[in-house]
Amino acid sequence: MRLLLLAPPGAGKGTQGTRLAAWSGVRHIAAGDLLRAEAQAGSGSARAIAAYQSRGDLVPDQIVLGVLTPAVTAAAARGGFVLDGFPRTLSQAIAAAELATRLGVTLHAAIYLQAPEAVLTQRLLDRAGQGGRTDDKADVIRHRFRVFAETTGALVPYYLERGILVTVDADQPPDAVTADIQAGLSALRLPGAG
Ligand code: ADP
Repeated sequence: MRLLLLAPPGAGKGTQGTRLAAWSGVRHIAAGDLLRAEAQAGSGSARAIAAYQSRGDLVPDQIVLGVLTPAVTAAAARGGFVLDGFPRTLSQAIAAAELATRLGVTLHAAIYLQAPEAVLTQRLLDRAGQGGRTDDKADVIRHRFRVFAETTGALVPYYLERGILVTVDADQPPDAVTADIQAGLSALRLPGAG
């Protein structure tokens, strides 16, 4: 199973990604987590990554691809992945599609988690301070929504045109969201989707 989760901040990519990966027996690859780990590890790009993340700006594609490509390649060889937060720009989506072609694999579905910004902002403010994240502050949260609307949102029509978009109402309890995702995947008639 090869899936990706497309969603504004706070929509539950992490929660649903973990569940879907466990359900389908593949690796959950969370771009934000991998980049935060890279920033912590103090590699050459660490300071730059930390700065972009704390401002709520997208980390440049070259850095993102350097971190994500090995993880995606390894997971693809072991049965698949649930990508959470990657790709996030049209150029990343094109790079991801090229990688998939090179590896001889295709994406089965792109799951779009949708919820009103006011609901998502409240969730992020409620969790602020819990995860040790520098970007769960009101002004940075507003900026992350703007980045989603201006950049990542373009991936919704991109995957819709490819016939693999599953849109789910994320303004529901986590179990209901998971059930709707599973129903949406079944409707696409995917391998292992029941
Ligand atoms: P959220 O979706 O709640 O903002 P993430 O952990 O997915 O949380 O992302 C946090 C931050 O990590 C982003 O604001 C951005 O700085 C960086 N990031 C994550 N994924 C990408 C990506 N694919 N491209 C560029 N930057 C990314």
